[in-house]
Amino acid sequence: MNQYTVNTIVTSVSEDGKGHWHTLENSPFYAEGGGQPADRGWIDSHDVLDVQLKEGEVWHLLSAALPTGTPVVARINEQVRRDHSIQHTAQHLLTAILEDRHGIRTLSFGIGEEDSSIEIETAGMDWAQVEALEQEMQQLIFENYPIHVYEIAEEKVDRTRLRKATDRTGMIRIVEIEGLDYNACGGTHVETTGQLGTIHVTTLKKVRGNIRLTYVAGNRALKATQRAREALRTIHHTFSTTNESVAARVIEEHTIRLEREKEIKTLEERIAKAKVKAVLQEDNYVALHVGRTEAETLTTAIVERIAATGRIAVGANYGTQKLFVMHDGTHDIAVGTFLRVALQEMKIGRGGGNHKQAQARFTSVMELEQGMEEIVRRLQEGVLPC
Ligand SMILES: [Zn+2]
Repeated sequence: MNQYTVNTIVTSVSEDGKGHWHTLENSPFYAEGGGQPADRGWIDSHDVLDVQLKEGEVWHLLSAALPTGTPVVARINEQVRRDHSIQHTAQHLLTAILEDRHGIRTLSFGIGEEDSSIEIETAGMDWAQVEALEQEMQQLIFENYPIHVYEIAEEKVDRTRLRKATDRTGMIRIVEIEGLDYNACGGTHVETTGQLGTIHVTTLKKVRGNIRLTYVAGNRALKATQRAREALRTIHHTFSTTNESVAARVIEEHTIRLEREKEIKTLEERIAKAKVKAVLQEDNYVALHVGRTEAETLTTAIVERIAATGRIAVGANYGTQKLFVMHDGTHDIAVGTFLRVALQEMKIGRGGGNHKQAQARFTSVMELEQGMEEIVRRLQEGVLPC
C-alpha cells in the first residue's frame, strides 16, 4: 500500500445517467477541480471513469454498482496522475514567471486531457518571445527547484506572498516552488521543477483582447515533438526537403499551384467559349454537353454559358457521374422539381435543385448515360411534372 493504492470499503452508492457513483471510506483519488482533471484508476477491477467532489465527498464513477460495505482496493493510475501533476505544476511555473518577471498576469487556466492553456493579460506575444520564455523555463527546470506542499493554519498564511487571494478558512494547503511561487492550491504537483522535463508552447491565440497560450509539458512535450517530426518526415520524403529548406519549398509549391490554377481557368474559359460557339450554330431548345474526360468545373462552366444563351442546358460529367440542368430563368420549367421527379420515376440517381439550376449524381457511368438520355428526351418532348 502506498499513496496510490488504498484498501478501503464502499460507503455509499448512487446512480445517474452516467453510471454508478460510489463513495469510499478512504480515497486516494483526486476529484476534478481547480482547473485540473480527475484522476483515473481502478476500484478492484472496475475502471474509474470520473471522480467528482459533491458536498465535500469524493464520488467515483463506475459502470457497475458495488454494494455498500464491500471491501475494495482503490488504485489510481500513476501515469495519469504524474502527467496531470506535471501539466498542473508547469502552469504554476509559467504563471509565476510571466507575472513576476514579465508583468503579465494569468487570468484563467485549464489542464486538459490533450493540452493545457492559460489565458494571459497581454495584447500580444510573438514567437520570438515564446522561444525566450521556453528557454527561461528550461533554465528553471535545470536548476531543479524543490516544490513543497504543506498545510498551515489560515492565520499563518503569508497573504502578501500569495499568488492569488484565497477565501478558504481553517487549514490552508500551500504549494511553494522554492523562491519562485507561493500558492494556495488543492491540486496535485511534482516534487521538483526538474520533473517537468520541458515546457513546450503549442499555440498562441487572441481571445477577448488577451492571449491564450497552449502548452504541453513532460512526456506530452516529447510526444508533440515526435508528432511534428513524423509530419515533417512525410513532407521531406515527398519533396526531398530538409528542416532548413522545407518552409521555402512549401511556399514555392503553393505559388506554383496558384499559377497553374490560373492557367487552367484561362484554358477552361477558352474551351467553354468554343463549345458555346458550336452550340449557338444549332437551333435547339435543349442543348446537351457531354464531358467525358474534363474536370467537373469545366463541365459546369460550359453548362452555365450555354444556359446564358437562353437554352435549357444539360451537362454530364463522366468523372464525377453528375448531371447538370440549367436555364437562365426565362423558362417556366422548375428544373429542380423536374429532375427530382424524373429520377424518382426512373429509379436511378438522386438529385434536385431550384427553379433554374439542378444537379444529380449517379452511381455509374451507365446510369449517368441512361439518365442523361431520358432527361433530354423529357425536356425536348415537354414531359414535365404538373
Ligand atoms: Zn497547484
